[in-house]
Amino acid sequence: MSAEEAAAWPPLREELRGIEPYGAPQLDVPVQLNVNENPYGPSPECAADIAAAAGRAAVTLNRYPDREFTALRVALASYLGKDAGAGDVTPEMVWAANGSNEVMLQLLQAFGGPGRTAISFAPTYSMYPEYARDTHTRWVAGRRASDFAIDLDAARDLVARERPSVVLLPSPNNPTGTALPPDAVSALCQAVGDHGIVVVDEAYGEFRREGVPSALELLGTHRNLVVTRTMSKAFAGAGLRLGYLAADPAITAAIRVVRLPYHLSAVTQAVALAALDHAPELLGRVDELRRERDALVDHLRAEGYQVADSDANFVLFGRFADRHAVWQGLLDRGVLIRETGPAGWLRVSVGTAEETAAFRTALSDVQREPIGERA
Ligand SMILES: *Cc1c(COP(=O)(O)O)cnc(C)c1O
Repeated sequence: MSAEEAAAWPPLREELRGIEPYGAPQLDVPVQLNVNENPYGPSPECAADIAAAAGRAAVTLNRYPDREFTALRVALASYLGKDAGAGDVTPEMVWAANGSNEVMLQLLQAFGGPGRTAISFAPTYSMYPEYARDTHTRWVAGRRASDFAIDLDAARDLVARERPSVVLLPSPNNPTGTALPPDAVSALCQAVGDHGIVVVDEAYGEFRREGVPSALELLGTHRNLVVTRTMSKAFAGAGLRLGYLAADPAITAAIRVVRLPYHLSAVTQAVALAALDHAPELLGRVDELRRERDALVDHLRAEGYQVADSDANFVLFGRFADRHAVWQGLLDRGVLIRETGPAGWLRVSVGTAEETAAFRTALSDVQREPIGERA
């Protein structure tokens, strides 16, 4: 042991030393367009129903919750039926945890691990390499094409070379907004075969454009396909912490082996069920947000920016010589966006019409200054 190691405190795993915890800045500014939340909260009536459900759960808190969250799995299966075909997703195919981030970690705990490899295609969701690190899974990132699509031949080559146990495919992709066509998902499921699982992370699935299918439709065709969703984005429930997946029942059975006992609290289960009862209201602004997103893409292109096509509730745009200066310039004007993605690009979430207008104004302000210079 070196003197440096001997002196290190706390005695953390070596590969974790000096690492900053993940997280976008949480700043109290008027316009928050940095973490892709739905800007519209529940109505007072909906909030009252949710509170009543939490109240009913409160009187049972001396008991452990239903470990199998049976009622919630039934409700989630029925909700997914809208995209998959009614009855195609059964409760045995559904699993849930505290945010789809926990779902994803459980998938890596069950299907990754020492001697195994997880792959994705960059730019991709920045949490994936962290789940791999935390589960001692080898991490390999291929590259997306210049339009942020996945080059299927290159992807198949990578699968053949690395023989991954887990393939992580966000669709629509974060941070680019790019959706993956179903034949690409099918081709990758086939290439991976029975030695791995293919996870299509549809955190932004409800925002996809007209005519863009969900990977849920392919669940009957590929037993190694896992589709994850969340209540954090379109469902206006980021504070609720409820993510879920649909997959072959053998996959949900495998996750049970690694989950913590009673990982979904009685309060979470009750509140998520009440929120699902109000799905039409909570999702009620999704069409408006999609129109707002398309208008924002058009606006930024008209302003001469490079803009990635988006099927999500955010837009990646650029490119700037100094994106940090632009991010800071916007923040100085009360608009918080996200400094993420490939060099020179920035990501902005779609907010209310007023918030998006404030962003446009702040950006054209910044554009007139030297910091707004394009790359
Ligand atoms: C926001 C997001 C999630 C959702 O995370 P939760 O833990 O459910 O809040 C999952 N995947 C991607 C790519 C995301 O951007």
